[in-house]
Parts: sequence; C-alpha cells; structure tokens
Amino acid sequence: MRIAMIGGGYVGLVSGACFAEFGSDVVVVEADPAKLEMLREGHIPIYEPGLEKIVDGNVAAGRLSFTDDLGASLDDVDAVFIAVGTPSRRGGGHADLTYVYEAARQIARAAKSDLVVVTKSTVPVGTGREVARILAEERPDRTFSVASNPEFLREGDAIGDFMRPDRVIIGIDRTDHAAGVRAEEVMRALYRPLYRIETPVVITDLETAELTKYAANAFLAMKITFINEMADICEKVGANVHDVAKGMGLDQRIGKYFLHPGPGYGGSCFPKDTRALTAIGEDAGAPSQLVAATVAVNEARKKAMAERIIAEAGGDVSGKVIGILGLTFKPQTDDMREASSLPILARLKDAGAVLQAYDPQGMNAARSLLPAEVIYAPDALTAITGADVLVVLTEWSEFRALSPSRLRDLMRGKIIADLRNIWDPAEMREAGFDYRSIGRP
Ligand code: NAD
Repeated sequence: MRIAMIGGGYVGLVSGACFAEFGSDVVVVEADPAKLEMLREGHIPIYEPGLEKIVDGNVAAGRLSFTDDLGASLDDVDAVFIAVGTPSRRGGGHADLTYVYEAARQIARAAKSDLVVVTKSTVPVGTGREVARILAEERPDRTFSVASNPEFLREGDAIGDFMRPDRVIIGIDRTDHAAGVRAEEVMRALYRPLYRIETPVVITDLETAELTKYAANAFLAMKITFINEMADICEKVGANVHDVAKGMGLDQRIGKYFLHPGPGYGGSCFPKDTRALTAIGEDAGAPSQLVAATVAVNEARKKAMAERIIAEAGGDVSGKVIGILGLTFKPQTDDMREASSLPILARLKDAGAVLQAYDPQGMNAARSLLPAEVIYAPDALTAITGADVLVVLTEWSEFRALSPSRLRDLMRGKIIADLRNIWDPAEMREAGFDYRSIGRP
C-alpha cells in the first residue's frame, strides 16, 4: 500500500510512521517549512517517546519520507489522509475547519487518479460530506472515495496506542456504491496488520464515525470532571478521593481509568472537542447539557486553582517565590495547548508572585504562552531552591522521586500545593510540610 499523510503534527507524524512500520509506503506532507526541515534532517519536532526510533527505521528502509509537494506525494497512492489541526474557532466552540477544507481542495487540484480521501483529523459531523462535495466540485472528472478514520492515540503513549489500539473506527461514504467498496477495501488493507492482534474494527457511515470520536473524548473529559467534583466533596467531608476512585473503578461497568483528580483537564483535544460537541449538539437541535456542564465546570476549575494556591499560601503571594514543577498538560509530552498551567501561572504572576518553573519537555513551547516574567529553571531542584511555596502541576515521574528531605533543604518555606497528588500526605506532613493535595484528608 502507498499513502500520503497531509499534516506532520502529533497525529500525522505518528500515524504516518506507524503505517510505514506496518509495511506501507508513506509520504508525510508538511506545510510548515521549519518542521519539514527538521524532519528531513532526521530530527523529530515533537517529544513523543519511541517516535524517533520508528521514524528513523522507516526512513532508512525507504518506506517513509517528508515533503511539502502535495502534488508529487499523490503519485500512485492508494489513499490520502488529512491529519491537519482542527482548533476551536476564535470566539466560539465550533471547530475551525479551514485547514481540512484547504487540504481537500489541494488534494482535488493535485489528484492524478481516482483517490480514497480519509479524514483522520477530529472533525464535526458533516465534514466528510463537505469534503466529498469539495472534491466533486473541484474535480468533476474524478471519482473520489471518502472515509472517516478518527484517531484515538494519546500523546505520550501514541505509538503503543496506534500499533495496539482498542479499536479502529472507519466511516465510509457509500453514496457511490463502487467508491464505497473501494474505500473499505483500502482501509481494511491498511489496517490488516492489526487483524493478527484481533483489533475490533467498526465499519460504519461517515456521520457515525465522526460523532464516535467526539462522544469518546467527551465521555473521558466528563469522567475526569466527575472525579474532580468528587474530590471537592471529599475535601469538605473528610473522605479520600483515591479510595473513592478505586472503589468506583473496580466496578467493571465504570472502569478504573480517567478517575485521577487534578487541576482540570487540558491538552490539544479534550477542551476543544468538548466545546465542539456542545456546538454540534446545539446546531443539531439536540443540545447536550452534560457536555456543556463539563466544559463550564472544567473551565471554572482551572481558574479556581490559582485562587486555591493563593489561599494555601496564606492569602497573599505578592513577592513570594513559587516553585512550579510541571507545565505541560500531562507528562510524557511537550504539548502546552490549553494546559492548566497557563491560567494558573498568569493569575499567580498578576498576584505578584515570583515564578520559578521547570518542565522536562514543555519549556520551549511554554515560553511564548506564559508571562514573560516566568523564570525557567534548568532542573527541578533549581526551580524549588528558595521557594516559599511549591506547586506541582504535572505528574512527571522524576518529580515523584524527589525526597521530602531534599525539598525541605532547598525550599525557604514549607507550603506545598500538590495538584496531582504525587506524594503521600502523611510522609510530607511528617517531613514538616504544610502539604495540600486534591481530595485527600
Ligand atoms: P498539529 O497542529 O500538531 O499538526 C497539524 C499539522 O498539519 C501541522 O504541522 C501543520 O503545519 C500541518 N498542516 C496544516 N495544513 C496543512 C496542509 N494543507 N498541508 C500540509 N500540512 C498542513 O495537530 P495534531 O495534534 O496532530 O492534531 C491533528 C488532528 O488530529 C486534530 O483534528 C486533532 O483534534 C486530532 N487528534 C489529535 C490527537 C492528539 O493527541 N494530538 C489525538 C487524536 C486526534
């Protein structure tokens, strides 16, 4: 099989490299000259564990290459994937589909044969149909087969998620019977290596595939938001949210994942996808109150976290040094998109705090997003040194390993606001800290 992948970001690069690992020939088309140059020189523009090895191996084997020439990439391909960004539209929750539709137009103009066109980006219901319309309008002389193949990989575990997914969802446009059959054949062939590990493949229509992705993400976001609210109740009634989560999660109907409390979900997907699903429901005349509430509760939570830190620091952080451990929205990624650190650090800076931050991978991306006054430390211990208050925002493993006595020696104060529950409260109190975490007595 031979495919083109439009977009060399988190999803396009990982999917492209993994399809090559499955044995397909893959050309990744990337429009950003800086990213393309890095890729061509053998550097990976993002931090994703295991990705470099797979990219290097497949480039060396001649199965993976990078270009900005979409036209040339379409020579003899069986399918072309659209894996470009779908951020929230400015001033609203709707997904911005500019990049998707532009990619569709570029594909249509450059197509030299009948093509299977697959949206891998997360796109609202109806986008696949619009892609089909654009393709037909631009090139009435060609027959395009349109499919939707939403991606479920998690940053930080992206390779494992792609190579051993829980399921593959494939939506097929069957308006033209023969084109639908062709799309299904090509998609099944591309994912054939997964049959060996008996991955469930759900073949459905375009609309269902598109909605399934949003439904899955919104459900996970709701689960996180639910446990965050349970943590708030725990704090008021003296219960322990970890035991609540464990007790809930052992029920197989609930499941143990995504029941870890924290400062509110962030990242490149959950915030924008829950907003987009709210808009999809409203536009369709079937508003989802649950999803809308999830969005509102999570936004409020991220904002409330800074006030919580200020309160824990005694009500005033002006002139106080706050050591910040972790900036990315979760560990094992350099992605800063909608991280809870963004509103929290902005508010702490406005309140007059001196911010000393460290993140193992996120500091490059953070520089353009955080207040200019933030001081970036070369390591965790430097970020902590002289701090009146220590705040944990991302649960990187290396932070868990820091010993309480080391922290005590380096810090000036004794207040720790651990928003990821990485340490044991009893141990931290024994070490003399005024230690607060989320939802634990
Ligand atoms: P990204 O911003 O990291 O990557 C998109 C890339 O596409 C960019 O490098 C951009 O330069 C490139 N691009 C845009 N238009 C182009 C064009 N016409 N030709 C060539 N390149 C073009 O985005 P991402 O995180 O990879 O997300 C892509 C899509 O996948 C989104 O819809 C997102 O919701 C979805 N998704 C993301 C994740 C994730 O964890 N990041 C997981 C599942 C699904």
